[in-house]
Amino acid sequence: MKKVVIVILSLVVLVGVSSSAYAHPGRLDKNGGHNCSAKSKQKGLCTGYHYHKKKK
Ligand SMILES: [Zn+2]
Repeated sequence: MKKVVIVILSLVVLVGVSSSAYAHPGRLDKNGGHNCSAKSKQKGLCTGYHYHKKKK
């Protein structure tokens, strides 16, 4: 049973890390978007230009 607890804990940690990494840094232009940085592309967070804020 201990192995199961360890697996669940590691999964929770992984999800927490990946979700916090999703909000990657970068300046937003007037449209609320920007070009994905090379680091973010490597991490698979985004590709090319994308938006963070929806237009009103
Ligand atoms: Zn972005």
